[in-house]
Amino acid sequence: MIIQDLLRYQETDGKLRTIEQEIAASDERKKYMTARKFLEKAPEKLEALDAKAAELKHIFELLTDKYAEIADTIKDYENLDEMVEQGAEVSFYKKNASQIMDSLKALKAEISKLSSRIEAAKTEFAAAKKQTIAMQKQYKEYREKYLEVKNARADEISAIEAELNKLSKSIPAETMAKYNLKRKEKLFPVVCEVQGNRCPQCGMELSIAEISQLSDGKFVECDSCRRVLFTKK
Ligand SMILES: [Zn+2]
Repeated sequence: MIIQDLLRYQETDGKLRTIEQEIAASDERKKYMTARKFLEKAPEKLEALDAKAAELKHIFELLTDKYAEIADTIKDYENLDEMVEQGAEVSFYKKNASQIMDSLKALKAEISKLSSRIEAAKTEFAAAKKQTIAMQKQYKEYREKYLEVKNARADEISAIEAELNKLSKSIPAETMAKYNLKRKEKLFPVVCEVQGNRCPQCGMELSIAEISQLSDGKFVECDSCRRVLFTKK
């Protein structure tokens, strides 16, 4: 009977799955994965910080240009005495000077804004650097610890795998391949006995055609959760 062999296989496979889940839930693996994911995203973060630095540099250059422009205007005032003597309107220069003053005030505000953005970027960069160093350390440390956790269960796992290998011999290769595929998709249990014409896992009701197939001793795949269903004769 394929079904009985398959169910025995699944029962043993369930023990393997429990070990896999225990390893996956271990603190060692969680810390290892956290560090790994962080380090995978680190280049992206570094790029964003680089872009920010480039933007701040660009703003700095714009402000430097603005400063040069104002300084240039102020140069005209060096010869103010001469110009006034030659009949220039003092009121015009007064008005002009007040405009320069406004420009300087605006420039000062922009510089102060840029300065706090640079400070913030510096703090952000320092924090990212500190975190990256910590995560590199965590990665190295917990990769070892995670390996230890896996190694500690290695004998247990290979014993179960040997048992599974033995059990699979009495199951058709095609059925085994289908089972393994679903197991890989994290479906468990893969094979279930129909209860009251429904899939016991998701509750999907079977069609008349499917019920007829089942009573012929065939397997049916649940339309909803893709599990392999059967009935005992
Ligand atoms: Zn189902």
